[in-house]
Amino acid sequence: MAEADTAKVEEGTVRLQVAAARQEESGRGVVRMPRTAFQKLGITEGDAVEIEGKRSTLAVAVPSYDEDEALDVIRLDGLQRGNAETSSGEHVIVRRAETKPATRVVFAPARREMRLHGPSEALKKVFFKQPLTTGDLVATHGQQPVQNVPPEVRRMFNAPAYALTQIRLQVVSTSPKGFVHIDENTEVELRTEFEEPRDARGLINYDDVGGMDETIKALREMVELPLRYPELFTRLGVDPPKGVLLHGPPGTGKTRLAQAVANESDAEFFTINGPEIMGSAYGESEKRLREVFEEAERSQPAIVFIDEVDSIAPKRERVQGEAEKRLVAQLLTLMEGLQARSNLVVIAATNRPDAIDEALRRPGRFDREIVIGVPDESGRREILAIHTRGMPLGEGVDLGELSRSTHGFVGADIAALAREAAIEAVRRIMPKLDLDAREIPAEVLEELCVEKNDFREALKR
Ligand code: ADP
Repeated sequence: MAEADTAKVEEGTVRLQVAAARQEESGRGVVRMPRTAFQKLGITEGDAVEIEGKRSTLAVAVPSYDEDEALDVIRLDGLQRGNAETSSGEHVIVRRAETKPATRVVFAPARREMRLHGPSEALKKVFFKQPLTTGDLVATHGQQPVQNVPPEVRRMFNAPAYALTQIRLQVVSTSPKGFVHIDENTEVELRTEFEEPRDARGLINYDDVGGMDETIKALREMVELPLRYPELFTRLGVDPPKGVLLHGPPGTGKTRLAQAVANESDAEFFTINGPEIMGSAYGESEKRLREVFEEAERSQPAIVFIDEVDSIAPKRERVQGEAEKRLVAQLLTLMEGLQARSNLVVIAATNRPDAIDEALRRPGRFDREIVIGVPDESGRREILAIHTRGMPLGEGVDLGELSRSTHGFVGADIAALAREAAIEAVRRIMPKLDLDAREIPAEVLEELCVEKNDFREALKR
């Protein structure tokens, strides 16, 4: 458990229980905590606080939403939970933080696929006054203001656009070291090479999966808790599930969810793609399957994710080929062979639950099932918020209206819609771009905005 769970609360600090931030506030660098905590710490809204789990991180404190006011809860987003090395339900120690103006701050992209050439001046504006410390993961955000805070604090978060999508960066170094903030005189450098993030939650975490509150709750109990606290289960004498089956249509976020659970559980993530492994040469498929399981056992805690499991383990009576039969048998043997108390969970996904071999669903195998449906309106709203996070949105853009008019869309469709709308916005500014320049000028970036009409055009496609 986190140190703060047992530590005595010292003078000038408060001990609060961690809960997840609201989806739309994720990546803003703020934490919500009750007003009583502000009084105890002698701080006001907009001040910097240090949050100490197994590690310390910094954030700007703003008051809780009314419904949380009576609870001793601090709301952290996925990046902040990773930065403080804590998770929902654990306790952290919060104290007021003094930050020094930085003379220099170096950032690096936290995702491998990002190629960044943005002007560092623009980056400086995005993180202006945000408290920072080396090793923290931070995110760029769009212009939507933070709710429920006084205007003078809100101004801090009205950063200009940096890109059309949220960008996650790692703070590689600062001068001076310790707790700093960026001001007018700070020199900001953006490295182009990717820096392996200190915590995998910087890549994908629960905030990146929309419309799945209940599912996440269930998976936390089934998968995250046993992986995180195996001793709890040993002591209770119960065996946590070895296999969980996710079923739902393609593009509903099953893969993303499994990845988020792995990252939030501090577990290694291994994927097996059903159709791909089936395509291997004779005997190769079983070997490949065995190898992945062996490697996962060596790297516990671990999650093995099998996508499109129906293609590896179809109903045996329907199977003609020997190869398929042997592969089903191999998977069953591997599941059986997992040490009762090994810290490894197999998550399998399918959109055809009726097509898989029943033997797979017996006790000790994939004996838990979770249905991932097509998202409803509020789910679509959350998913839209995720994919437009960090996107500068025009005033006319109404995410509520968009979620009402996208009935039947799954997460992948919504992601594509947001991407298309951004491309529309880029098309509009193309004439202003000098395509030979390596950097887009800050003035052009600041003007960049995805408008209602861009979404309308994107919907037509
Ligand atoms: P599945 O495994 O169910 O086919 P994926 O997890 O591969 O679906 O989703 C594909 C993409 O669609 C994701 O990378 C993400 O961009 C988007 N997506 C799907 N579902 C969601 C969701 N619930 N929340 C946020 N994004 C989603």
